[in-house]
Amino acid sequence: MKDQIRYGDDYRFIPAFSFKSGELLEVTTDVSCYVDQIVNVVLIEANDQLVIVDTGMPKSSEKLISLIESRHNKGIKLAAILLTHGHFDHVGTVVDIVDKWNVPVFAHETELPYLTGKLDYPEPDSSVEGGFVAKISRFFPNEAINLGEKVEALPTTGQVPFLDEFTWVHTPGHTLGHVSYFRKRDGLLLAGDAFVTLRQDSLYQVVTQKGEVSGPPRYFTTDWDSSYDSVKRLANLKPSIAITGHGPPIKETELTEGLRHLVDHYQDVAVPDNGRYSH
Ligand SMILES: [Zn+2]
Ligand SMILES: [Zn+2]
Repeated sequence: MKDQIRYGDDYRFIPAFSFKSGELLEVTTDVSCYVDQIVNVVLIEANDQLVIVDTGMPKSSEKLISLIESRHNKGIKLAAILLTHGHFDHVGTVVDIVDKWNVPVFAHETELPYLTGKLDYPEPDSSVEGGFVAKISRFFPNEAINLGEKVEALPTTGQVPFLDEFTWVHTPGHTLGHVSYFRKRDGLLLAGDAFVTLRQDSLYQVVTQKGEVSGPPRYFTTDWDSSYDSVKRLANLKPSIAITGHGPPIKETELTEGLRHLVDHYQDVAVPDNGRYSH
């Protein structure tokens, strides 16, 4: 019998779009970033195989599947899915992709209960400041999906399956088992929601095409002390390019100075004053 892998019962299409929605940006020769409504999916080609990091928004699998198929047509086969964490906007199409290609999914051991139907995420805190997106975050799904045996813990060695050049870094705070992925060779950081590259109140706005290093999405972040430690850990890696969960890729001075500013002013710029989880 087929494994019963499934999304949370509260998973539904969220009518949210950004200016870049649908765009595929080539970030390096082997890494591209696909913008699924408001969230980024990273596609990495290595040794004639394709690995994707996070899977986008609920009910949006068609476009991502066609992007993967276009790689297949060039002989580059999907090998695995890596997750930074299990929030709905990062696992929105994972069941469709696993059903279609039966590839393994990897996440941090601590995140597994939220990916195997055992624990739901805390409800989004729609009272935090953060403009429109924080207000509508109460409609965001928070129920755990269930990937059953399709999801595995990342190796404790820090190695990343199928991607020899990458290591994973535990960056808790936004969620307990949040991880980021780092490639030392070119300083490429896939930060997930440990920090993001757009202003909290502009997640849906057209105005900014430029990235701006900003704290993790407020409405879902539950442990601000850990999230601060995680941002410092990532800044210490001295990344040269970052692709985060939300917002455009960011490089060099903008990234370095943005991270420095975030670290130096974390309480002011990242932590909400009045959030349910910030005291
Ligand atoms: Zn998240
Ligand atoms: Zn996110």
